[in-house]
Order: sequence, then structure tokens, then C-alpha cells
Amino acid sequence: MSLRAFLSRRVVTPEGVRPAAVLVEGDRIRNLVALDRVPAEVQDAQDFGAAAILPGLVDSHVHINDPGRSEWEGFETATRAAAAGGYTLLVDMPLNCLPATTNVSALEAKREAARGRCRVDWRAWGGIVADNPADIEPLAGAGVAGFKCFLIHPGMDGFTMVTEQQLRAALPHIARTGLPLLVHAELPGEIAAATERLAAADWSLYQTYLQSRPEEAEQAAIRMLLALCREYKFRLHIVHLSASKALPELRAARSQGLPVSVETCPHYLHLAAEAIPKGATLFKCAPPIRSRENCERLWQALRDGMISLVATDHSPCPPEMKRIAEGNFRDAWGGIASLSVALPVMHTEASKRGYALTDIARWMAEGPAVLAGCELRKGRIAAGYDADFVVFDPESDFVVSEDRLYYRHLVSPYLGETLRGMVKATYLRGRLVFKDGEFPGEPVGREYRS
Ligand SMILES: [Zn+2]
Repeated sequence: MSLRAFLSRRVVTPEGVRPAAVLVEGDRIRNLVALDRVPAEVQDAQDFGAAAILPGLVDSHVHINDPGRSEWEGFETATRAAAAGGYTLLVDMPLNCLPATTNVSALEAKREAARGRCRVDWRAWGGIVADNPADIEPLAGAGVAGFKCFLIHPGMDGFTMVTEQQLRAALPHIARTGLPLLVHAELPGEIAAATERLAAADWSLYQTYLQSRPEEAEQAAIRMLLALCREYKFRLHIVHLSASKALPELRAARSQGLPVSVETCPHYLHLAAEAIPKGATLFKCAPPIRSRENCERLWQALRDGMISLVATDHSPCPPEMKRIAEGNFRDAWGGIASLSVALPVMHTEASKRGYALTDIARWMAEGPAVLAGCELRKGRIAAGYDADFVVFDPESDFVVSEDRLYYRHLVSPYLGETLRGMVKATYLRGRLVFKDGEFPGEPVGREYRS
């Protein structure tokens, strides 16, 4: 098998950033050697100089909406945006596609929809809904990475939320699979009451929407989940944590040895409620973007390790559903698409705070790979791993424009912003899948199977 080398003065490994040549044999990394130790048998050497080589990013929270709602996004467009953003593996959420991924035949329909259309690898989460406990173990056997449920209406009928009682019926099955349960942790009670109180308020103001989804709704959900975790001993993962108020209870649970992990998203780490303009519904997501002070507390939790990963929650919809013209935060669809810009968004904020590229690789590659059960082949530059790389120039700036988004609908709250760091190229299992705005070759992405 031919041997190739990828050289850089900044190769990002779990042990740190160092000059190295990454030797690639077929689609895997053989090993790393010093820049002056590249073996003579290497047939093709690419030197990226001062541009960094990071492990291909893994996004454990993506809404591809395919099959059934590919007019919202779809495998072709989501994986194209992923390749442009430095991602090499996406894990797809089980809702907003038709059918929702709540049984094995729906998983098979998803596999059919993905065939031959992906520029990066993908994997599926299975859904837990009100009435499918009998599908949980079959889904695990068929290859899902774990499960996702909602404790509140997910914004679209067809994927039901679960009550505590319904969750209790599912938990023994989930625990038996050993796979994680990812939970959208907001309880509806507080939110319904707050929304009713605000019925006559001005819903073109972001503050009105923010007040309708108080931190206490997240906190109450997390408290309930931690109690269930203690009782049923399943792997609990809190998706898109926004409320920093919940962190002390999470830290206490972790210190007692409960198997709980937490993610947050680039938008909670970069945007702040105070700066969201009137009527700017592109900033709507759930749970909401909160204050600047809250944002700093989330950064603190990344620093101390309570939050172990950053996922995008890439959740696009047709622009009409964002009600941009009306600017009404109550009626607009909640969701922010960011696959193509998440790495520069994170690097912009992280570099200001003194973090290194190794931290970004831990949050955006290794951490999500562990959650999705792919950590033996994805998320690290190390011998035996898939040759998934992103070539990243950490020093150059760019302005976010529509032609850099690459997903289906070119809307984004980041448009016009200057971000730091540019994705120059992305390699999937040794093959170039993105370079300087081009997507060379056929779509070779495939489902990750362990
Ligand atoms: Zn989501």
C-alpha cells in the first residue's frame, strides 16, 4: 500500500502541538515522525508549512432532516457544509426527518437516503418517543450511537416529547444497551407559565423570548434527569446546555461519580442576548442565547472540564420559517445552522481567552467522538486512526459571507462578522474532500459502523 506524508509545523495531537509528518497508509494513520525523518518510500508528501493540521472534527449534534425534509437541509448539503467547516463525521439527530429515527425500518430508510450523497462520514442517533420502548434494543443492535429524547415539545409534531413516566418505561432498556441518552433538558411547566405571562409583551424584542425560556426550566429538567440517572444508572448526556445556573448541580453529580456529560454550542459561547437586535430571529434557538455573564460561566465550565464537548446543533429550516420579515420571536423557528463556520467561531473566542488548538481538538473532535462511540477511529491524530484532517490557518481573518456557508439555505446570524482562522482543506480517510472552496471528487462519506 502506498505511503503518503502530511507535514506541518503545527500538528495537533492529544499530547500537544508539534512539528511532525503524519504518515498515512491507505485510509489510516500509520504513525507520526519528525519532519526530517520522512521515510524514503513516501510517494506523495504535502507540506502545509505553518498551517495547523487538526484531527477532522466530529459533530455529535446535527439535524440533517433527511429523508423527508431535505428541502430544509439534506445529506448532500449538510455534508458539504461539514467538509468546508473541517468536520469529517456528523451524528444525525432522529427528528425532523420523515420518518423520525425511532425504529429500525426508519434507520434503514435513512441509510438509503444517505447512500452515495455524503462528503463526510455520518452516524445516527435513535429517538426515544412516548411509545417506542420496544424499539430501543433493536435500534442499538442495528447500529445507532445512542438515543435522544425531548422533555418539552420539540417545535414540530411527529416526534413526541416524553414525560417522566414515559422516560421511566424507556430507561431500563437504554441502560441495558450501555449507550448514552442525550436529552433536550427543558421542562415545559416554567416555559408555559412564562409565555402566558408574556402574552401581551413585544415579541419583536429578543428579551421577551429570553424571559419566556428561563434558566429554571433547564435547571429543573437537569435535576430530574440526575435523579433518574442515580436510579437507573444509564449514561446521561445533556445536549446544548445554555443555563449556567445548572452547573453546580452537574458538578456535584459528577463528583459523586454519576455518568453524566454535558455539551454546549458555539452560539452560546460567542453570542450574547444583550447584543441581539430587535426582530433578528436568526438568533432564535432553544434553549436561548443568554447574557454575556452566562456565556463566561459556560467558558469556565469548559475550562474545568464539566462541559466536555462543543457541538453545533446545526438546525436549519427554510428561511420563510424564520419569519425574518415579521421579526416575531414567538412564531419563528428556533435553530441556528453553523457547520461551515463553527471552527472559526470557536477559535475566535478560544484564542482570545488563551486556549490552544489542542483544547479545540478536545472539545470538537475527541469529546464528541467519545460520546458517539467512535473514539477508537475518529477524533485524534494518532497511529491507527482514520486519516481525517483539517488544515487550518489560525492567523488569517475572514468575513462571513453567503458563499462560505455551503448548506442549503444561506442564512446565518454570523453573516458580516469577522472571524479568526480559516479552514484551508479537509481530508476524509486520506482523501481530499474540501480545498479552497472546492469539493473535489465523488462523495465518499459513509456510515460509521463499529
Ligand atoms: Zn438539536
